[in-house]
Amino acid sequence: MSTAKYIFVTGGVTSSLGKGIIAASLAKLLQARGFKVTIQKLDPYLNIDPGTLNPYEHGECYVTNDGAETDLDLGHYERFLNVSTSQANNVTTGRIYNNVITKERKGEYLGKTVQVIPHITDEIKRNIFLLGETGEYDFIITEIGGCVGDIESLPFIEAVRQVKWDLGPNNAIVIHLTLLPYLNAAKELKTKPTQHSVKELLEAGIQPDILVCRSEKPIPMEIRKKLALFCNVHLNSVIEAMDADTIYDVPILMRKEKLDERVLAKLKTHSKEDPDLEQWKTFLGKLKNPVSDVRIGLVGKYVSLPDAYKSIAEAFVHAGAQNECNVQLKWISSEDISKDSVETVLKGLDGVLVAPGFGERGLEGKIEAIRYVRENKIPFFGICLGMQCSVVEFSRNVLHLDASSTELNPKTKHPVIDMMEEQKKITMKGGTMRLGAFNCKIKKGSKAHAAYGESTIQERHRHRYEFNNKYLEQIEEAGLKAVGTNPDSGLVEIVELKDHPWFVGVQYHPELKSTVQNPHPLFVKFVEASLEHKKATNR
Ligand code: GLN
Repeated sequence: MSTAKYIFVTGGVTSSLGKGIIAASLAKLLQARGFKVTIQKLDPYLNIDPGTLNPYEHGECYVTNDGAETDLDLGHYERFLNVSTSQANNVTTGRIYNNVITKERKGEYLGKTVQVIPHITDEIKRNIFLLGETGEYDFIITEIGGCVGDIESLPFIEAVRQVKWDLGPNNAIVIHLTLLPYLNAAKELKTKPTQHSVKELLEAGIQPDILVCRSEKPIPMEIRKKLALFCNVHLNSVIEAMDADTIYDVPILMRKEKLDERVLAKLKTHSKEDPDLEQWKTFLGKLKNPVSDVRIGLVGKYVSLPDAYKSIAEAFVHAGAQNECNVQLKWISSEDISKDSVETVLKGLDGVLVAPGFGERGLEGKIEAIRYVRENKIPFFGICLGMQCSVVEFSRNVLHLDASSTELNPKTKHPVIDMMEEQKKITMKGGTMRLGAFNCKIKKGSKAHAAYGESTIQERHRHRYEFNNKYLEQIEEAGLKAVGTNPDSGLVEIVELKDHPWFVGVQYHPELKSTVQNPHPLFVKFVEASLEHKKATNR
């Protein structure tokens, strides 16, 4: 049995209360006291992973170093903690059932009837303990997706009940996140929905140890007392979680409410030191007191749901703070860009990022946007599909080839972006892309080399198509240089345009590795280049 202590975070009343941010903030506070912490998200849906989910529905798919396609909350965990996560940090109902059914087919249950309890719940518990058993962590924070009372989350809640019972109160606790709605007519925060959701948990056999209450207003003492009395929690374990200006304020707010102290006391863990939040506060200071600002256009297909590009938006927050600059993002649907509209849509922007994506919709708009920024020497950053579009644009408008990506046109005469050989035989969609961290060797003298300050880097991938090396010589000769390549496969990873202030396209996803502590160097340099462009154009 592991020596790690387990903290479960459940949610009630409504979804979208920000369990991920509360979990990440608590983890940050414990980490800032010198503890080793990791976070896990259990998602109660039947997909094996979120890789096949539409970003409109579920937000971005976050890819880990080991190539797991995971929930976007893992992005918050990495951004807050500066520690990598892996497949073990995100488990869905689909994966649990898949494991159990695979075992059943192998005959591992030896003639028994396979049931939700104990087989599914045992498999959930096995996954909960996996991280603790590595011996690497003092605390495992496990967030249960969805709301208590949902049919889907019942087996997870039952597994939490059993873990709490198995390990005892000093080794496992439950933090329940709820909402206190403010009724304008009554001028009061209401506790009833919280009481009901705690009852729901109690029905499942779980007494929450700490209540974290989301609220638009400060929670008065009499309301705290009422919650404590009706929900059987200590008065000092009713924690107020007011709406914050930025998610990065939440660790500070949780510290003020002493969430970390309550957790340590309940888990009978002593910490001599107060959390060291100096670095975090310096970051917040810069974030909140910018000395300049830039406007950057984010051209993508899923712009109506900003969560679809969560990591890119957050990478700009980190890079902006590093440059003491307020980055205003203008979200632009690539379908709104055409030859006629491009100038109007992109006018006044100091830099343009063309986002990752899938499918042909909006691709021509992305290509048009890239032509405009290339010709007008506006800083450009292309990520994954954005990079691929920059190669197509260059081939069409500089080399005058009738070129395309085979994703856009499978019959194109010049497939400058083509499906990777090993991808051509694959018919299954889930988990079959080029996924996870790969090495990239960068040429000295390039902008990427100047940004990273080193020649070999690892970045994360999630794609099926690639730069077609048959066109490499021709494209490089005309001025679009492959300055980063995979040393093992020779696949192109980074392209840069000669004679342009900052035009960088990357086949990988740099946004996934940007954290508060380590803002991503390419985002930092792109913001810097955009600031310079703004100064040069006297805006
Ligand atoms: N659709 C492209 C591919 O599969 C790009 C993927 C992406 O932007 N993540 O290669």
